[in-house]
Amino acid sequence: MQPAKPDAATAAENRDYAQQRALMVERYVAARGVKDPRVLEAMRQTPRHLFVPQVVRAKSYGESALPIGAGQTISQPWIVGRMIELLELNGSEKVLEVGTGTGYQACVLSKVAARVFSIERINELALRAVELVRELKLHNVSVKVFDGTYGWSDQAPFDRIIVAATAPELPEPLVQQLGRGGTLVIPLGRSDDQRLARVRRVGTGIQIEDCGPASFVPLIGRFGWKDEEKAK
Ligand code: SAH
Repeated sequence: MQPAKPDAATAAENRDYAQQRALMVERYVAARGVKDPRVLEAMRQTPRHLFVPQVVRAKSYGESALPIGAGQTISQPWIVGRMIELLELNGSEKVLEVGTGTGYQACVLSKVAARVFSIERINELALRAVELVRELKLHNVSVKVFDGTYGWSDQAPFDRIIVAATAPELPEPLVQQLGRGGTLVIPLGRSDDQRLARVRRVGTGIQIEDCGPASFVPLIGRFGWKDEEKAK
């Protein structure tokens, strides 16, 4: 008997993961109302199993949020799809993401926007995300370790800003770094009482739209919660 070729095994595994991804997108993202075909296709193409820790890998294509280490979580596939859809991207935009976490959402964003700048406050998470960004050859994604509530001033303005952690109020620097006609999507509130907000820059002011309930870890920083306890 011939030994199995490693390449063949990998190809079969990849086919299996691709099938699981297609099912995840159909059952847990599209079925829950996300319609933007570019977002759905980007999620079908993004290998979520590579982003989650080995111990929860079997659940990569389920509907839940999963622990990613350092007390943080990767969001449910549905909310990732929903938030990116709310950004209304056409592919030409420069996007700022606050809360890189595993880098999964940055990877999905890299397929539907022109350029992605992502900030994470926890070094170990950012390092792993940078490794994956390199491995997957995502040339339009940059990651830095910093307090993302300050934004990324040397790269501002941004066409879109997406925040993957819940804030007590709109962080002023993020509003400032939003370009004309830009959109910011951010969860606001405490751990058990959060709403997703879509903020648009109109003229010299802003317009805030409520986009339903949310469930995120706290945004910790100068213009966020001062510490995790206060967010409870
Ligand atoms: N988008 C991620 C999941 C984000 S979880 C993914 O796809 O995996 C929220 C992340 O926000 C956590 O990793 C947390 O450490 C980070 N975070 C919280 N406050 C932050 C801040 N002020 N600046 C940058 N990152 C922050």
